[in-house]
Amino acid sequence: MERERIAIQRRTTPNPLKTQTGGHRKNRQSNRQNPEITGQAHQSGVLRSLHVFRNRLDALLPSALWVSTPPALKLQMMQTQWGNCSPGGTITLNPHLIKAPRDCVDYVILHELCHLKEHNHGPAFWALLARIMPDWEQHKARLDGMAEMMLQK
Ligand SMILES: [Zn+2]
Repeated sequence: MERERIAIQRRTTPNPLKTQTGGHRKNRQSNRQNPEITGQAHQSGVLRSLHVFRNRLDALLPSALWVSTPPALKLQMMQTQWGNCSPGGTITLNPHLIKAPRDCVDYVILHELCHLKEHNHGPAFWALLARIMPDWEQHKARLDGMAEMMLQK
């Protein structure tokens, strides 16, 4: 099974090569990972982000009643995704997401938690997401609006 990805959508598109359209559609073009994490400063920033995300994940888990075991969480610099969920149940988040407001972080985490039950973007997936985060569209729109700024180093 393919990983379920949450695509980064940007309102402004200065560089078409870096921009993905089509929203939550599955993206079959290659998503080359960006080996940006190099220096010590980056490393400690990433660890701090992982800690923050882990805390949010723990806080949100009680609303994801279908999740019996807390999923593994990892970080990976990505240019086209905020996060994804592997078939094995590991949630990967983009460290750039740390710059987003908490509700936007929660939206991405809840989105991925929903994929642990619904491994696609079918109607059941959106119904599930709407049940645990009724105003998800608002947080997604806010995140999309900030994507360009957040992806700058
Ligand atoms: Zn998704």
